[in-house]
Amino acid sequence: MSDCLFCKIAAGEIPSKKVYSDDHVYAFHDIAPKAPTHVLVVPRRHIAKLAEAGAEDRELVGEVVARAAAIARDLGLEHYRLVVNNGEGAGQTVFHLHFHLLGGRPMTWPPG
Ligand code: AMP
Ligand code: ZN
Repeated sequence: MSDCLFCKIAAGEIPSKKVYSDDHVYAFHDIAPKAPTHVLVVPRRHIAKLAEAGAEDRELVGEVVARAAAIARDLGLEHYRLVVNNGEGAGQTVFHLHFHLLGGRPMTWPPG
């Protein structure tokens, strides 16, 4: 998708603070962190939101989640939260599927 912020970040066309990169997954530090560690983990393939992930995306979505857990481990996080905001009403502002990996501080439940 030519006009998508996270497609451009994953392609290296817009700078980011890279945490992890492979053929399917890209991870980078959130520009406005909501916790001491706030990493965004995204599939390189453009999927606008989780609800639009199809059967053909199952393996990829699983890969992104597993990678988020591996990144958390590599960053030394034992306690963390992995969040997907699906749709504007849930707080989604960038319409390219991304998982927020948040850690480094105590968290409360329920979320806002
Ligand atoms: P969401 O609100 O769930 O769609 O999350 C979008 C996230 O992208 C927010 O936490 C933003 O701070 C983050 N963000 C927006 N632009 C950038 C950027 N250029 N680099 C890194 N993170 C960004
Ligand atoms: Zn995209």
